[in-house]
Order: sequence, then structure tokens, then C-alpha cells
Amino acid sequence: ANAILSGYGTTVFEVMSRLAMEKGAINLGQGFPDDNGPSEVVAAAQAALADRPNQYPPMMGVPELRQAVAAHNKRFYNLDVDWQTETMVTSGATEALASCLFGLIEPGDEVVLIEPLYDCYLPIIRRAGGIPKLVRVEPPRWELPYEALAAAFSDKTKLILLNSPMNPAAKVFSREELGFIADLVKKHDAYAVCDEVYEHIVFDGLTHHPLMTLPGMRERCVRIGSAGKTFSLTGWKVGYVTACPALLQPISKCHQFLVFTTAPNLQRAVAFGLTQDDSYFTGLAASMQAKRDRFSEGLRRIGFAVQPCQGTYFVNAGFAPLGFAGDDAEFCRHIIEEAGVAAIPVSAFYQDQESAVRTTARFCFSKQDAVLDEALDRLARHF
Ligand code: PMP
Ligand code: GLN
Repeated sequence: ANAILSGYGTTVFEVMSRLAMEKGAINLGQGFPDDNGPSEVVAAAQAALADRPNQYPPMMGVPELRQAVAAHNKRFYNLDVDWQTETMVTSGATEALASCLFGLIEPGDEVVLIEPLYDCYLPIIRRAGGIPKLVRVEPPRWELPYEALAAAFSDKTKLILLNSPMNPAAKVFSREELGFIADLVKKHDAYAVCDEVYEHIVFDGLTHHPLMTLPGMRERCVRIGSAGKTFSLTGWKVGYVTACPALLQPISKCHQFLVFTTAPNLQRAVAFGLTQDDSYFTGLAASMQAKRDRFSEGLRRIGFAVQPCQGTYFVNAGFAPLGFAGDDAEFCRHIIEEAGVAAIPVSAFYQDQESAVRTTARFCFSKQDAVLDEALDRLARHF
């Protein structure tokens, strides 16, 4: 068996979703909205399915989506992007990450990561022969430890993989933190792969700044977005990459042999989605912010130690004040079985289980208000 991958079990999202289904629990574990996405975007996919060729689209993506990705970069971040040489469509951000990491990492290269981290990062980096260098941010404020980050960089650093807004910490990196990261990347002549799938789910008037927009970073960054998050269409698995030609070339080499392409009607519908009015994007953030407030307040009333959430659709809640004695994996099993609500143990986002944060559960709040209220009622009845 493969020595690297055999060290991993089944992804926590699959395990918890399956368990939630078996037990009939409300699934606030795996991150996905419970609505059907914007109806105009879904209608655009249906129309494209009927009208357009359903054969292989071009390897880099259909031109209209690549043009829309370039225009989106200009509109929101004032980035000038050449759609023909600097954009690529992927089968979700996951494939974008795999293509970037396999395309850019040589065996023995060091990769800086900030922990807690999304669960596909480490397996892909290790399989690419990269050597992870982890730096931790600590709850509840998840501030970037500047000294530890600087110490994680070396002359072997190939890249930093940065996720902002950050899953599961629900942190939006500040301009100052990004400036510090940018300086390290430049100092060590490295790159940054920027997982920005939650770019439009940012709260309280905070601003998401792509690292790519900082001085000197345009040619050092790869920016990844996902229609799954931006249009609440996680099952479509449509992602997009923006990078300068020198970086995009090796990434596209991997993409062509991993998946080659992505369903054409979904690409065309996402192109339509990206050209929606600003009100679509601000509406998404406002709707998620209202859900965050509703759900966080409910958790607080039950007695959870609820952490701040600046972005993403996850909120982390400490369960120690409820008097639960076990760790987070036990807590999440317990609430599925006894309360009928599923969450994700935050320790799943750490490399080393022994030293992981084990006191906190991550709840996904991108659900109908009635579903959030019912989940809160179930938890309140139990605790
Ligand atoms: N990165 C992060 C931080 C995520 O949370 C997710 C999925 N929820 C992904 C990447 C994967 O996105 P996709 O579904 O587009 O592959
Ligand atoms: N990104 C989602 C989450 O964090 C899960 C995606 C998946 O199931 N692979 O919950």
C-alpha cells in the first residue's frame, strides 16, 4: 500500500456526514449550504445543457468563464488579468489545489502552512514530496505568530499555502498580517498558493485582500476561487485559478493529466454567475452574517464558548462550559447520537492529534433559519 496515504483515514467530512445520515441528525458538520444556489445560475446551467455542446470543453476552461474570472479579478480587486494566459478552470478548488501543489512542488521542497488547516492540504503536499512546515494560530483570536512564521521559512521554502478567509478558524487575515507574509515570500524568493474560496463570505465590514494584490506579489501568487462557495453550489465542483503565465504553465500541465476539464454547462453557468450585480455578492455575505449571528447567539444561550467568526460559514464553539468531559471527537459523536446534531471536531484540522485543540466543535451555519433553530432547540434540550 501507499506509505504516505495509508496513514490517513477517510476524510472527516465523509465520516461525519455518513454518521449524521445514519442517525437522522441535522448535519452542521460538512460545509455546504442547504439551498439550491441562485435560481438564475441554475437556470443558466439547464439552458446550457440543452443548447450547447456537451462534449469536452477546452482543457483550460470555456472562454466565457475564463473571461469572467479575469473580469471578476478586475472588478473586485483591481487586478489586470489576461484570461488567455493567466486563468484556468478546475474541477473545484480541490483539483486546483492538487494541480498547483503537484505542479509547483519538487520532492524535498519545504511548504509553509498555517494550522489548523483544511484536510486535503497535507496529503497532497506529502504525496508531491513536499516537506510541510506548520505554524499554528491559537484560538480564540487566531493571530498570526510573526516570529514562528518567519522561522518556518528557509532557503528550501518553495511556497506558503495560505487560506484566507480561513477554514476552520473563520479568520480573515488582516492587511498587516498579509504584508508580513508577503515580505517573507519575497525575502525567500518563494511563492504563495492562496486558497480564497471564501473570498465573498466576509463579515462586519472587513475586507478580503488577495495576497496577490500586495506590492511585488502579482507574479508570486496563485489565487484559487470556487463556485461551490461563491454560488452555494458545492456539488458542481467548479473552481478557478488565477496566476501569472510562468506559474500557470506547470499548474496546467498537472490539470490536463488529472482531470483535463470540467462539465461545460456548469462552466457557462458559473460565467453567468460571476457577472451578477454587486448586490448578489453583498447579499451573500449579509445573509451569511445574519445566520452567523442567529446561530452564535443561540449557541451562547445554551452555554457554549462561541468564538468570533470574521468570515467563512463556520463557527467554532468550545463545549467545556457545558460540563462535557470527553474530547472533541467524543463530543461530536455524542451530539450526533444524543442530540441529533452533527458538527466537526476541530482536531481533525491538525497534523498531530496529541497536541491538537480538542475542546472545540465547528458548526456550519449556511442553512435555512428554521434548520438552525431546530438544531439549537435539539442542543438546548440536551444540555
Ligand atoms: N478549500 C477550503 C478552505 C475549503 O473549505 C474547501 C471546501 N469546502 C475547498 C478548498 C474545496 O472546494 P471545492 O469544493 O471547490 O473543491
Ligand atoms: N470544505 C468543506 C468543509 O470544510 C468540506 C468539503 C468536503 O467535504 N470535501 O466542511
